[in-house]
Amino acid sequence: MGGGPELERCLDALYVAVRDGAAVDRQAAFDIAVNELEYFPLHVEARELAEASVTSGDEARLVSAARAFLDAYGYEPGFEQAPERFARLERALDAVRADMRATGLAGKVRLVRPDQAPRNVAVETWAGDRGWTAGILPSEAASDLSALVAVAEQARQAIMESLQYQSTGRAWPACPVHGPGTSPVARHGTGVWWCDDGGGHVAAEIGRWAARCV
Ligand SMILES: [Zn+2]
Repeated sequence: MGGGPELERCLDALYVAVRDGAAVDRQAAFDIAVNELEYFPLHVEARELAEASVTSGDEARLVSAARAFLDAYGYEPGFEQAPERFARLERALDAVRADMRATGLAGKVRLVRPDQAPRNVAVETWAGDRGWTAGILPSEAASDLSALVAVAEQARQAIMESLQYQSTGRAWPACPVHGPGTSPVARHGTGVWWCDDGGGHVAAEIGRWAARCV
């Protein structure tokens, strides 16, 4: 089986079967386990999954072996398998849209799946720009705060490209006090636009640029 898209597909199917209480495909479970054992012969959860997949009649053992394997493997469901994560990104993008309006940007932005990293999500601007990194991993959308910071960062990159910052030097969103661009960070449980100047300070909460105090 190797790695790559085929393995991802099999892991996704295994995750969905376990989550939905559907029948686990024994052959696919066996293939996944053996594939892992080729790299890590002593992988306890992979051995158990391999054994459980060839022990007919014990569905409960197979399901619990599959669940334990996915945990040990560090499997992260993609946006198709965890649509609530995509919804979280949409809400985060609404916060960024509010900051765009507050800073006088009228163009539209939307979430897209980047061609070069189809499991991820990127922000695309009115001009078709998508920033310079590979987008947001499904794992970054596991919490509201990490989703907010990740979406703000993707939006920042894409918007700066559309503002042609490389030739104009125009950063977004720019600190109203110091001028240079700010970056999204998580701070004290909130997503903020952080300025490195002046010893470092919060320029505004993400989504609340219009209510900033500086
Ligand atoms: Zn500043």
